[in-house]
This record gives sequence, structure tokens and C-alpha cells, in this order.
Amino acid sequence: MDTNQHIAEPEEEKALNFIEQIIEEDIANGKNGGKVHTRFPPEPNGYLHIGHATSICLNFGLAAKYNGKCNLRFDDTNPSKEDVEFTDAIQEDIKWLGFQWDGPVRYASDYFQQLYDWAEQMILDGKAYVDDQSAEEISAGRRTITEPGVNSPYRDRTVEENLDLFRRMKAGEFPEGSRVLRAKIDMASPNMLMRDPIMYRIIYCSHHRTGDKWCIYPMYDFTHGQCDYLEGITHSICTLEFEIHRPLYNWFLDELTHTEYRPQQIEFARRNLNYTVMSKRRLLELVQKGYVAGWDDPRMPTVCGLRRRGYTPESIRMFAEKVGVARREIVVDMALLEYCVREHLNRVAPRVMAVLEPVKVVLDNYPEGQVEMVEIENNPEDEGAGTRQVAFSRELYIERDDFMENAPKKFFRLTPGQEVRLKGAYIIKCTDRIEKDADGNVTVIHCTYDPDSRSGSGSEASNRKVKGTLHWVSAPHAIEAEVRLYDRLFKDEDPAGHKDVDFKEFINENSLRVLQGCKLEASLANAKPGDRFQFQRLGYFCVDPDTTEGRLVINRTVSLKDTWQKMNK
Ligand code: ATP
Ligand code: MG
Repeated sequence: MDTNQHIAEPEEEKALNFIEQIIEEDIANGKNGGKVHTRFPPEPNGYLHIGHATSICLNFGLAAKYNGKCNLRFDDTNPSKEDVEFTDAIQEDIKWLGFQWDGPVRYASDYFQQLYDWAEQMILDGKAYVDDQSAEEISAGRRTITEPGVNSPYRDRTVEENLDLFRRMKAGEFPEGSRVLRAKIDMASPNMLMRDPIMYRIIYCSHHRTGDKWCIYPMYDFTHGQCDYLEGITHSICTLEFEIHRPLYNWFLDELTHTEYRPQQIEFARRNLNYTVMSKRRLLELVQKGYVAGWDDPRMPTVCGLRRRGYTPESIRMFAEKVGVARREIVVDMALLEYCVREHLNRVAPRVMAVLEPVKVVLDNYPEGQVEMVEIENNPEDEGAGTRQVAFSRELYIERDDFMENAPKKFFRLTPGQEVRLKGAYIIKCTDRIEKDADGNVTVIHCTYDPDSRSGSGSEASNRKVKGTLHWVSAPHAIEAEVRLYDRLFKDEDPAGHKDVDFKEFINENSLRVLQGCKLEASLANAKPGDRFQFQRLGYFCVDPDTTEGRLVINRTVSLKDTWQKMNK
């Protein structure tokens, strides 16, 4: 697939998206004193993925654009699923993406006392009651969208009784699941969420921040809007599924607060990627069942996975920018993400030579023991990147599939009788002396070189055009590496979209290929985890954290698109 074709060139002056239009109108009207304050509200129950990354870019990006602020607030209202491992990882990912939240990290649990006080206030106002029904009974009582619900038999408890029961819920007198606190709204509302939503439930579970202080926890719906309010959020941007929650959030604030200020909720559609899964539950399953090596497996659509794979923060921000915001659900082609990382790495990644599947070439007429240093540019896209000296000698490695003994006419690489240029060095010609092992595999290809053809020497032969240019590594100077090549984790465009087939059925069993004994030019001897390179003709690569003293491990981030075209220029 040609990824470039469906990607528009960046416009000089981009049109405002619908959220920017709302914000600019609000600023023009002097709403909230012209201030913009957004927030990113992750639930610390998993690692961030590329969908979250777009939301981060949106919230922090809007704050930056309008001279505003953006909070980071963990929605930690469900203690049973949360973990500090996740809160730490999420902060690291946000910073890595290039953003800094305003003030301290915030938590919904910072407001547990305030929320509790508000709940008591609602009881006193006759707007909340303790319900002794089971979860099933409550759900059944709501009926369906086509018929009104029925009131709970406990709906008309007295204020005193409600207050007493709620306090005893808090004191730990009742078993889990035996009672909840519900808002008294309207059991006939066409919006099911308004049919006396649950505000508090009993959970005997230590909370990662409040410990055992609480055994009743507020529901997300009784938390989110109030947290936005308490933090002075002006534009509360969320995904579409929260649109029907908006009347409820406003109802709570109308009951509990008496100011004119309201955080304005704006919904946009989730952005999903094809050939992967994005739900945290499924990602967790892949990790727990060992389908991938961890959350940061380079095949995962997580931010830490993409980072390990070699993606740059710039490329992910570019992706978010190109995807934009919309009110309609969109599935974004994985190719767009790959396009973005190629774009950025093309500008910043130094070029080096590496041979992934090596076969030896011996230049029979090159003096034994001689070493020449040839000068090769580090990045043709970046004038400031300079050049480096690369060792050239009599014994070299080239890519095994750059040689063919009986080649078709159009094969412009190495084959007996044919000349190719070794990038930055000499033109060589393949003789018909080919050494093979007992199985018939080529072990050594004998060639001769043209001593006058050295690149950049100014001789006539140095400008001689031959059809093919190959990358190479000098054998005595080469360093070894393990290189991991990745393919899509799933064979299906929408692995989770099949009714009767589990998403794991679509896992691509060939999504990881590990190559040992790859030969790299000597300049990579000091490469450190996280360093990124273009291996000429092969793609963009990144040093993996599995690298240790004496063991270099490298991931392929993405292949190059137009390798041949570039090399033959
Ligand atoms: P969960 O099912 O656990 O709630 P979630 O994906 O909604 O999963 P959150 O931690 O609640 O996870 O998400 C944090 C923020 O990221 C939310 O504001 C959410 O709207 C946004 N977000 C999540 N997934 C996407 C996505 N695919 N595209 C855009 N934004 C997303
Ligand atoms: Mg969520």
C-alpha cells in the first residue's frame, strides 16, 4: 500500500477543528475570564495506548495553544483494578510524549472526603437514598429504554434512616454488595443513566492511595464532573460514550453547587487503529497469557511498546495532529503511524550500514591486510550531520539476498560477471568462484574490485554508473548484533470485531523474527538503548533495552519504503 497517497500535505494555515472553534468562541465571549483549563483523566488500570496518546496530545495541545493549563488526574475510584505500577508508567509516558501537567499529579481520591460530604448533603436534601436491593434487582427495576422503571421499595426512606445507614456503610457495618447509595432523580427518564444512578458502593479493598480509610467508594459518574468542577476545568474533553452522562454530571453539579461556572464537557470520537486491539482488557490478556513479552513489547500499541520499538514522541504527536478530532468514530490505518515515524526518522536518524543476513565477499585483487577508511555522509537530509569514516577491507559482508548465482535479467545486484558499487567505496565485479557448504549454501563470493572507482576520488571511474549499489560491512571490523524484526501482531484488520471468534485467534504467529549474527559497522560499538538509526536500504532501527555489555540487541522500528530509488540516486 502506498501510504503517502492518502495523506494530504500539511497546510500552511490549518482550519480550526470543532473543539478549537468552541474554545475560541468561549475566549471571545470572555467565558471563564477567557481562561482555558483542560485535563487528562486516565484510569490507572493499564498502560497508555496510542488512542490515549492522541487524547493527551489533544488536551495538552489545546492548553498550550491557548496559553492555558492541563491537569493530570487519575480516576482512581475502583481500587480493585488499580496499581501504582500504572500510575508511574502513565506519568512517564506523558512526559516522554513531551508534556507537563499543571501543578501536582491529582487523583480523584484527593476528593473522597468532599464527595462524601456532598453525598451526605444530598441525603439531607432528600436527593439520595440507601437501597438494599441486589445489583440484579436494581438493574431489573430500571426496566428498559422503552418502558419506565419502577421505584425501589427503599426509595422513600426517611432522611434520618438514610443518613444512619450511609454512615454505617462507611463504618464497615455491612457486607460488600448489600447496600448502595442512589441518587433520587427519575425512574421514568428516557435517559437510563438518570434512573436513580448509584453514587456509592461498598468495596472492602485497600486503595493504592487511601489505604483502608474507606470501604465505600464513589462511582465514576458521581466523581468525574465534580472533580472537573473542583479543579476549575473549563473544557472537559472526553470520548463520545460520555455524551449521555453529561446531563447526569450537570444534574449533580446543579444539586451540589451554586455558582454559575460549569466545566463544559465536549465529546469527540475515539480513534482506533487497524490490525491491533486497544481495549485495556484485551491488552492485559495478551500480557498475562504471554502472547507478548510485556506491556512494552514492541508489537503492542502501547506508548511504552512504541517507544521501545523506536517511535519518537515527535512522530506520535504528528500522528495525533494528522488524525485530528471528529465526532464520528474512525479507524486509522496503521500505515499512517508508520508514515509519521518514517517522516521524522528520515530527518533525524543517522545512516549506518548493517547486514542482517550476511554472506562473505572476498576481493581477490585487494591487498591482504590493507584497510582504507572511506567517508560516508551521516544523513543526506541533515546537512549538519556530517560524515564518518568507515573501514573497508578485503573481506566484507553483504546481504545474502543481494547475491544470486543464476539471476534474471533485471537483477541489478551481485551475480557472476556483473558489477555493483559498494556504497561509498568501490565498484566490484563478481567472478564465478562461489564457495559453498555441503548443503549447497553459498559461503564465500569471490569478486575483484576496480582500484580506480573509489567514490569521491574524482577519477573517471569514480563517477562510473553501475545499476546497483549495495550496503556492506568490513568483516574484520564488524560488530555482531541480534536484530528483531516485527510484523503486525494480528492478521486481521479488526481482530476484536468478530462476533463468534476470539480476537486471539487472529494473532500473527510470525509477528516476531529474531536474527542472530547480524553484522554492523564499527561505529555502532557504543550504541546505547534508545539510540535510533537508519540501516541503509533496510529501515529504521532502535537499540533495545535488552542490550548488555557484549550483547547488542536491536529492534526494527519500520522498514524503508523506497530503498532502491534512494540508493541509486
Ligand atoms: P477503560 O475502558 O478502562 O475506561 P479507556 O480507554 O476509556 O478505558 P481511560 O483511562 O478512562 O481508558 O482513558 C483516559 C482518556 O483517554 C479518556 O479521556 C478517554 O476518553 C481517552 N481515550 C481512551 N481511548 C481512546 C481512544 N481510542 N481515542 C481517543 N481517546 C481515547
Ligand atoms: Mg474510561
